[in-house]
Amino acid sequence: ATPMSIMIATGRGAHEGVLIKDAEALERFSKVDTLIVDKTGTLTEGKPKLTDIVAVSGVAEDRLLSLAASLERGSEHPLAEAIVSGAEERGVTFVEVTGFDAKTGKGVQGLAGGTAVALGNAAMLGDLGVDPAALTEKTEALRGDGKTVMFVVVDGALAGLVAVADRIKPTTSAAIKALHDSGLKIIMATGDNKRTADVVAKSLGIDEVRADMLPEGKSALIDELRAKGAVIAMAGDGVNDAPALAAADVGIAMGTGADVAMESAGITLVKGDLTGIVRARRLAEATMRNIR
Ligand code: ADP
Ligand code: MG
Repeated sequence: ATPMSIMIATGRGAHEGVLIKDAEALERFSKVDTLIVDKTGTLTEGKPKLTDIVAVSGVAEDRLLSLAASLERGSEHPLAEAIVSGAEERGVTFVEVTGFDAKTGKGVQGLAGGTAVALGNAAMLGDLGVDPAALTEKTEALRGDGKTVMFVVVDGALAGLVAVADRIKPTTSAAIKALHDSGLKIIMATGDNKRTADVVAKSLGIDEVRADMLPEGKSALIDELRAKGAVIAMAGDGVNDAPALAAADVGIAMGTGADVAMESAGITLVKGDLTGIVRARRLAEATMRNIR
């Protein structure tokens, strides 16, 4: 494309809330055939709400939530915010936390009021050698509703779970349809579990789901698809998405997300919803058509 046509496209993009880094990003985006999207904060609002607290017998629900929420005050993850707000709304008493540690893509741990507490997904439990079997039935039912389940471990034993629900953004469904129409294959990549991810993907008509992913997994997925000849754009919002945004042919950051995600991206969507990708695609196609 000519420098002039690129300038016009990037100018129009900026006006529509689509920030394009350079000519290469625009040109590459017109050739993309596969779009990988993160779930939390990209397809969904990223503002999950606490919906369920389930304690194993012998543990008080209040104490479970107090320990979990106290620990989560140290985390910036949207799931952590949901648990803290939910606990505040329920009038829970918070306790002091020391030795806080976050495990990316897995969860958090530390001492809450002097008690060893860990909170996270199945991978987190695996690392701790804790078996979630006692809560399997509950967990399956919650995931079947598209909810995200986090297990709570107290003093090395399974103490219960908390579940949160995150609404799909009102613009997501129409954007996915438009992106399909423009010939893109759409893959959801998420750190969330398979069952929950499948429920969300099915409701949106997404082509393929990769769940239970660690941040490195998203980069590995890009390598795998590229080896099969795909040209890949990756859209995400989080710190955990930055390596994959950098590895993709075109990284697309949600402007509402982490700064490091935007630094790794060729395209940044100011409004942070998928409608911006539809716009970027139209701009890229129109610009490249003009020069062929
Ligand atoms: P996503 O790809 O959906 O944005 P992440 O990679 O951020 O997901 O997180 C993956 C999973 O790790 C979450 O679904 C959750 O189960 C667990 N997790 C991550 N951070 C936390 C946290 N602060 N508290 C509890 N669980 C967490
Ligand atoms: Mg995310």
